[in-house]
Amino acid sequence: MDQTTPAKKKQRTCVACGATDTKRALLRIVRSPLGVVSFDPSGRAPGRGAYVCSAECFAAARKAGKLDRALRTKLGEQDLERIAGEMSRDTSRCVGRE
Ligand SMILES: [Zn+2]
Repeated sequence: MDQTTPAKKKQRTCVACGATDTKRALLRIVRSPLGVVSFDPSGRAPGRGAYVCSAECFAAARKAGKLDRALRTKLGEQDLERIAGEMSRDTSRCVGRE
């Protein structure tokens, strides 16, 4: 009963720790058709996507160069800094005040 991949549930995998999630809990990073890599808070931007489950995993994936591989591109330090900034803005909004 396991011959086909379920089409309805999209399984996302964190590129850093390998955790999977079908919900929208994972953070998406997308390489647009123009080759611009950015954080995708909507999770729906066109292009090739990679997922991480947290800012920590983004940092780990960044360190290990896993985002380059997942997105099949070469990310520069500036790109990575920008994405990290975009991500922290978004995640801090979710977390709210301490
Ligand atoms: Zn993770």
